[in-house]
Amino acid sequence: MIDFRSDTVTKPTAAMRAAFGVAEVGDDVYGDDPSVNYLEDMAAEMFGFDGALFTSSGTQANLLALMGHCERGDEYLCGQQAHNYKFEGGGAAVLGSIQPQPLTNQADGSILLTDIEAAIKPDDIHFARTRLLSLENTIGGKVVPQGYLAQAQSLAFEKGLKIHLDGARVANAAVAQNLPITEITQYFDSVSICLSKGLCAPVGSILLADERLIKKARRWRKVLGGGMRQAGILAAAAQLALTDQVERLAEDHDNASYLASQLSAISCFDVDMSLVQTNMVFATVVGEIDINVVAKELKQKGILISAGNTLRLVTHADISRTDIDSFIRELKVILQR
Ligand SMILES: *Cc1c(COP(=O)(O)O)cnc(C)c1O
Repeated sequence: MIDFRSDTVTKPTAAMRAAFGVAEVGDDVYGDDPSVNYLEDMAAEMFGFDGALFTSSGTQANLLALMGHCERGDEYLCGQQAHNYKFEGGGAAVLGSIQPQPLTNQADGSILLTDIEAAIKPDDIHFARTRLLSLENTIGGKVVPQGYLAQAQSLAFEKGLKIHLDGARVANAAVAQNLPITEITQYFDSVSICLSKGLCAPVGSILLADERLIKKARRWRKVLGGGMRQAGILAAAAQLALTDQVERLAEDHDNASYLASQLSAISCFDVDMSLVQTNMVFATVVGEIDINVVAKELKQKGILISAGNTLRLVTHADISRTDIDSFIRELKVILQR
């Protein structure tokens, strides 16, 4: 199968599969798993944070950050398009009694500083207490400008807010700008990073923060059922995600550009090239075609896409240049009929 639906579909690498077999393990709930401890220490050191926590998913890492920074009746400011507002089942409200205050995302993924400032509530019993600003990078495949992150950090500091980064794909943002990941993470009090997307680990995310927040997050992780016992099997693969897979993301970005240019040459699709900044391509269906039928026919040829009037195609380690050529060829055959 050639699967363009998401970079979450990446399979663990051969080195990761080998690492599962030899990983030293213990009970992580007791703090006894050497592979998990190693991963957490390594990640904290790598990204310049006091502490790190291995979590079962990016959703869990974000939720733990929100529950770490905010108490019942507090709120966080985030983008309307933020994953931790729109795509995480309302977890902060459901499980944390935390109110989201979503704000418009600009075309580049940022949120206007004036919108942030205007949304911060005064200390008044009518209002939830504004505690946190949560940003996302990359967002919809777009890289949020570095200068903006610095300004957002200053504003948060000035207003007494903490600042969180949903950095599920922060490695893509760093590689696209040819920067170390720390150049991005330096602006934040906490950061979540998905290891199971473009970085190819089978399971898991890492949450980075200071010791106090990590301690709180560790407690909530147990409460949420995320105490994973011999999680070292997974942590061993997760380590390799951070050490071996980051640089490789450049290939995914090159492949996304290639895919976008091939697709834009087909008249049924309108590709906004300005959105092709990392590993995602967005194509609007403009021709008289039923994209659901096209998706079904592609599936019979072993190619998976998420059908929709705006297609989101994601490149990743398990998609090669040849796979993209096969996709374009099959697509043209289907469209000609
Ligand atoms: C995928 C994703 C998450 C959540 O990760 P899961 O591991 O799928 O729970 C969070 N934020 C962003 C921006 C994501 O793309």
